[in-house]
Amino acid sequence: MENNFDLVVIGGGPGGYVCAIRAAQLGLKTACIESRGALGGTCLNIGCIPSKSLLNLSENYHKAKKDFNQQGIEIDGIKLNIEKMMSNKNKSIKILTKGVEFLFKKNKVSYFRGKGVVFSKNDIVVFGNSNSRTNITAKNIVIATGSEVASLPGIEIDEKNVVSSTGALSFNKVPNKLAVIGGGYIGLEMGSVWSRLGSEVVVLEYLDFITPGMDREISNEFQKILTKQGIKFKMGSRVNTVSNKGNSVVIQYTDIKNSKEEKIEVDKVLVAVGRKPYTEGLNLSKVGVKLDNKGRIEVNNKLQTSVENIYAIGDVIKGPMLAHKAEEEGIAVAEILGGQAGHVNYDVIPGVVYTSPEVATVGKTEEQLKSENKSYKIGKFPFLANSRAKVNNETDGFVKILADSTTDKVLGVHIIGPHCGDMIAEMALAMEFGASAEDIARTCHAHPTHTEAIKEAALAVDKRPIHF
Ligand code: FAD
Ligand code: NAD
Repeated sequence: MENNFDLVVIGGGPGGYVCAIRAAQLGLKTACIESRGALGGTCLNIGCIPSKSLLNLSENYHKAKKDFNQQGIEIDGIKLNIEKMMSNKNKSIKILTKGVEFLFKKNKVSYFRGKGVVFSKNDIVVFGNSNSRTNITAKNIVIATGSEVASLPGIEIDEKNVVSSTGALSFNKVPNKLAVIGGGYIGLEMGSVWSRLGSEVVVLEYLDFITPGMDREISNEFQKILTKQGIKFKMGSRVNTVSNKGNSVVIQYTDIKNSKEEKIEVDKVLVAVGRKPYTEGLNLSKVGVKLDNKGRIEVNNKLQTSVENIYAIGDVIKGPMLAHKAEEEGIAVAEILGGQAGHVNYDVIPGVVYTSPEVATVGKTEEQLKSENKSYKIGKFPFLANSRAKVNNETDGFVKILADSTTDKVLGVHIIGPHCGDMIAEMALAMEFGASAEDIARTCHAHPTHTEAIKEAALAVDKRPIHF
């Protein structure tokens, strides 16, 4: 029978499509079902890729406008063409999503367009456009249906004036005033984009620090740098109502410190208070797949759900909502099903905020080590003392390495500074190999590169940096 598969993956995001390709490589007859009309999931269509495209383009514009003149590059009449910028972004999305389709063909993964519904532990129906219905059977099922935007009670997202990240990726005009509710990954990346393009951006954050979960010293520095760039922060703000007036939006909020009611009026509001797992319409409770109290699919350490042959990966289960975490889980499940020892090391999942400068972290934060009563040493090195950063006029930020006091093993690395989103890979690799700070300090780093700041921070763990 044609529609009998060893593995059916529901959801074609970075978790699902990577899982499908790896399973096919291992010889499993594999299918992937995707309802969005394009592969690549949130990440390629409305997440990582479009946001990084706009971050790059807006940074180029901002640099050309603000920095070039001082650097001896004199250009008259720099103009923003938002329509062209958006079509550039859309072109990148199309190329990449089509690229995944090509990879499916290359690896002989069958691609079903439509919504997958699980009818029994081996039966799935794909509901396609124009009421088509395709029955599929599967020895194993992987649920990789990802996440959706979370909002706040009483706030209606219309994707015009009150938007989620999806709307903020497609404004057709630069808002004069943009309020961002939530100082996390999305709020700060999209806030940076629109601030660089000319919006007055104000971030309303419930807590008294941004990017919760990040090493506090880094997040404090991050907030200082963004403030210097012109983004305003209203910390400790509890948003009560968001009233969409058509031409403007009024936000009423409480300043938690003094319980004072405040009000601001802006052109657009971006709601960026997190995302929630998406399992709607999958029929999971009927087949016995259990969810936890946050609506995430429960899995064991083999990513198996409460039904033996049904697995779940990515944003729909616990853990950081990151594309590379979803990919690692996809590969692990495929390898488990292929008879190998699939495994994800959750202690070494890097996280990057793609602002300017970037922020990159891997491993434990200082706060986590304190709460675990771990004895640790700290090595820090500022980009101000790094020659490459200095000549490029990118001196904001520093590298912070946390190492075990006794064994010198690297426990966490936290960087805010130029290109650290790429630099963090070296630290993830070092941690996978159980490196000590001394191992990093003894590794020759090319000069002049930003990576020398990592070597110097590793030397600083032993209180012997050369250039600071
Ligand atoms: P998803 O990518 O959400 O894919 C799930 C897919 O399943 C979707 O395409 C959906 O249409 C499909 N689906 C759902 N139900 C069904 C069904 N019943 N039948 C068929 N198909 C179904 N992460 C990073 O690591 N780096 C970043 O820079 C980054 N930037 C981001 C920026 C934004 C604005 C956003 C919103 C997210 C960003 N993320 C980033 C997070 C990242 O996008 C997610 O962690 C990642 O996409 C999760 O992958 P996934 O495969 O689990 O789910
Ligand atoms: P987030 O969890 O990163 O940040 C949400 C922020 O909103 C937090 O600072 C939180 O304290 C704040 N908040 C929550 N409730 C609030 C309230 N009522 N009022 C004011 N502030 C409130 O969530 P996000 O920015 O929406 O992003 C969702 C997820 O998408 C992230 O967790 C991340 O995993 C992923 N993402 C990753 C990247 C990246 O890797 N570069 C980029 C974008 C998104």
